[in-house]
Amino acid sequence: MNSERLVGTLRSVGAFLFSRYALRFRNRQRLEAWQARRLAHFMARVMPHGQRFKGLANSDLQRLPIMDKSTLMSDFAGFNTRALSLEQVLPVALEAERSRDFSPTLGDITVGLSSGTSGAQGVFLVSSTERQRWAGILLARTLPRALLPRLLCPWLAPLRIAFFLRANSRLYTTLASRRIDFAFHDLTLGLAAALERLNQQNPDVLVAPATVLRGLAQAALAGQLTIRPRHILSVAEVLESSDAELVQQAFGQKPRQIYQASEGFLGYSCEAGTLHLNESHLHIEPQWLDPQRTRFQPIITDFSRRTQLIVRYRLNDILRVAAAPCPCGRAERAIAAVEGRADEILWLPRLQAPESAPLYPDVLRRALLMLGAELEEYQIQQRGLLWQVDLRTPGDYHGLCQRLAEALTELCAQQGLQAPSLSFGHWQAPPAQSKRRRLLMLQPPEGLPCVY
Ligand SMILES: [Zn+2]
Repeated sequence: MNSERLVGTLRSVGAFLFSRYALRFRNRQRLEAWQARRLAHFMARVMPHGQRFKGLANSDLQRLPIMDKSTLMSDFAGFNTRALSLEQVLPVALEAERSRDFSPTLGDITVGLSSGTSGAQGVFLVSSTERQRWAGILLARTLPRALLPRLLCPWLAPLRIAFFLRANSRLYTTLASRRIDFAFHDLTLGLAAALERLNQQNPDVLVAPATVLRGLAQAALAGQLTIRPRHILSVAEVLESSDAELVQQAFGQKPRQIYQASEGFLGYSCEAGTLHLNESHLHIEPQWLDPQRTRFQPIITDFSRRTQLIVRYRLNDILRVAAAPCPCGRAERAIAAVEGRADEILWLPRLQAPESAPLYPDVLRRALLMLGAELEEYQIQQRGLLWQVDLRTPGDYHGLCQRLAEALTELCAQQGLQAPSLSFGHWQAPPAQSKRRRLLMLQPPEGLPCVY
């Protein structure tokens, strides 16, 4: 092992031990005090290296402007500490995407593209030091205790991890080491291509988007897959309860979630199965969507990063807070669900007022779940008052359209909303490399303000 590699490994191990054992807050005040210290250091020492934040070192965090993906992309060089422009970094990312060889870097910097399906593509920079720390933190937060010896004891077989994603990156291959046998499966090649390799590797840990876990569970139930993973993690897509049940049925393990985006490592399921925000490493302000404070869009400030500046960055995700504290005792905020993205909220006119009201993804999904297994796949796209509903069913298609229309009418009546006009079609699978988007708001009802 050369010295650079050794330093990298030690950095991962250090981050692992520190995250796992020192950053376990049971007390919210202590967590907030830790965040305040890290934030002060970040704002004084790191943030001013970005052009965009010159002279703002002594500001109050709350007074800094809110940014999002489009702000970041419109002044890319201003939002990183190396003053790297989009023109400099984009060719590296696009070439990796084209060749499916994700190893090239720009000096020590990895360039990642965000897999967002709507709007502008995002580009994010990660340095090698950050990658090594990230690997340690991710393992610290997600690995169950029973698998720890495999990581730490040189006389045991290395821990085998199978990882399915649309794009690999240096970020993920950083996990590979003497103690970790890491196999990346490229989703653009389709699922069938992966089965044989997966059987050969026989992974202890399986990491994949929810729809892929579902596909693998179906393959296992059909006898095409013989693996027995001991730990299953869902990433990058909303994990619906039907997916989770199928995975449990196939592998005898309940899938846990990693809430990870290009913007950062945002959350993880604890041993009690609750999703917690990764607040020991990020500061998260809730931007509440409703007066009852049940749902919010997170505004994140990543005080752990040193290259890409994520300061009061609004994510497009909707999070629903857990009704009760988690029995695990962690002080990090508990989330009932990542419900989806803001453009998955559909809007309908209120019967009692001249305004549009939100129909949240989980409310709509629950109503559709009542239709049972007959509704195998669906997608709803809203354009004004017209909803395009595409369905797939193994049974009676026209009968299902009828029942779905009735279910929606009933739901709207319950919510005090005007029912939309429906147009039905046949569901088609999206390309293998794109995310599942069941709900998509393309255009809200015209002339009515959207009021949460
Ligand atoms: Zn918990």
